[in-house]
Amino acid sequence: MDNLAETVKTGLFLDQSSFGPYSLSVMGHKEADVCLVCQQPAANRCSSCQSACYCSKEHQKQHWKTHKSSCVVYQIKEDKRLGRHLVARRDIQRGEIVLKESPLVSGPPHTTGPVCLGCHALLQENKVVPCAQCGWPMCSKSCADKPVHKPECEWVKEKRKEKVKISQFTSPHPTYSCVTPLRALFLKSKDPWAWEKLTSLESHTEERKQDGKYEQDRFSVAAFLRRFYKLEKEFSEEEILKISGIIQINGHEVPLSEPGYISVYWKCSLFEHNCLPNCSKTFTDSGDVLIRAAVEIPKGSHLSISYTDPLWSTPARRQHLMLTKYFPCVCSRCSDPTESGSFFSAIRCPTKNCDGMVLPKCFIKDFEIWRCLKCNHKVTSKQAAGICAKVAQELSGVRKGDVSSYSNCINRVKNLVGENYCHLVEAKLTLAQMIGQSSSKGLADVEDGLLSTKETLSRQLISLADGVFRAEYRIRGVLFFELHAAVAELARRQVNKKNSNAFVLQARLLESGGYLERVIFFLKHEPQALPEGKIYKQALQNLKDLQNLYKTMGITPAV
Ligand SMILES: [Zn+2]
Ligand SMILES: [Zn+2]
Ligand SMILES: [Zn+2]
Ligand SMILES: [Zn+2]
Ligand SMILES: [Zn+2]
Ligand SMILES: [Zn+2]
Repeated sequence: MDNLAETVKTGLFLDQSSFGPYSLSVMGHKEADVCLVCQQPAANRCSSCQSACYCSKEHQKQHWKTHKSSCVVYQIKEDKRLGRHLVARRDIQRGEIVLKESPLVSGPPHTTGPVCLGCHALLQENKVVPCAQCGWPMCSKSCADKPVHKPECEWVKEKRKEKVKISQFTSPHPTYSCVTPLRALFLKSKDPWAWEKLTSLESHTEERKQDGKYEQDRFSVAAFLRRFYKLEKEFSEEEILKISGIIQINGHEVPLSEPGYISVYWKCSLFEHNCLPNCSKTFTDSGDVLIRAAVEIPKGSHLSISYTDPLWSTPARRQHLMLTKYFPCVCSRCSDPTESGSFFSAIRCPTKNCDGMVLPKCFIKDFEIWRCLKCNHKVTSKQAAGICAKVAQELSGVRKGDVSSYSNCINRVKNLVGENYCHLVEAKLTLAQMIGQSSSKGLADVEDGLLSTKETLSRQLISLADGVFRAEYRIRGVLFFELHAAVAELARRQVNKKNSNAFVLQARLLESGGYLERVIFFLKHEPQALPEGKIYKQALQNLKDLQNLYKTMGITPAV
């Protein structure tokens, strides 16, 4: 039984007094917990955060004043339309951590070549170390000892009783699509608490039966697992298929390995989807999911993250959500064809001498005919899709790492789509980062014109963030880093000018430092394993250097 769902249904969550969550729920938890007040054994937990333990209701009440500030900022609610979802328990500050959670299960993605089952990195055939216990190929001996590898390792020894041999290192390798489902099944006997949470998540079994994914998994996952690990007596095909569905619907791609691996989290799965979400998602170096408030969130608001790529056009996002999560998105961004006036999915009017934007009345209900907002010229959705495909094709033809190839292409497609068209934005993002990367001297080697292009692009994209990708803290942090670098270089060039202006120089340096503070705000929780984690470290160092420079120059930053 899902204790939490039960608690929600009985209304204990919903009837909290203003003094806080006094309802206690008894969790089948592994370790013995002690009461935060009297240190006696405690089987009850705070129903909101599930982490503070108490021996009695009295001690929980007594402790609430202290616990209030460290207890979670959300409440789990349930209704017919949304099912279980999260609501802000109080006003949440922008940037505040909303949730940090360990995965219920992690493993290779559904489709992958042979990866190390310790660190999930792609294996190189000539550098493989078979696990001494089970034979699965690993990248190193230490990876074979990692706890994450235990489920398949144990079941090979206990049930299969014959070592695994992987001889083909081609991609995709069918055996690997079964590893994550196996690890999930392993929880049933080894971690009933996690099993209960996992099986309470949505599996979309009916929809998966309709589109054929269910039947595919019947052979490639369910039948295979039962035969290979001799699980016929323990798990029915239906049970395995449900688990496989849960992983595919709720799995998050964790970018900490190459290729990324999949993790399923419990509370993280309760966030609603929104294409312009109010929360921002990242991962810690140990693979926990970390969710921050992307904007100020007033008490009572629903908490949301994005289950698709916010840098895709509205038709692309909606199609992706329909195919992978089985729902038609009707969020505020999908309902507004102009996407906060950015025209992120719009094409340009093909009429001569008209520079109007062409859009359907609504991407959700009325998208067959697109019209120019200036001259009312009509374009069918098929024609519009053709133009979008042409732009995508042009941009995919640019030479990687070639600044002029990018600039030329961006200029070429500008008469087909708007300035902020999705693919164009992606190309601009790449270009803004690329300028200054090719030389060991960095930006010092870049000519004035390109330096100002870098500055302009960064500013343009930063101002686009609010309406389109406000929760993409990684991208926003990187953009501020690029802008700080461009502005600092402009300051340096100011010094070298004949009649250099001290005020302009000071203003530029202060401006650059201000941008570094933004970088630090956006990237401070990024893991070291990602480039953004390294940019964060660099930003801290640059800011320190800059502050020393302020001192020697006698500049006082305004507080
Ligand atoms: Zn107590
Ligand atoms: Zn709590
Ligand atoms: Zn490894
Ligand atoms: Zn092993
Ligand atoms: Zn949407
Ligand atoms: Zn027009």
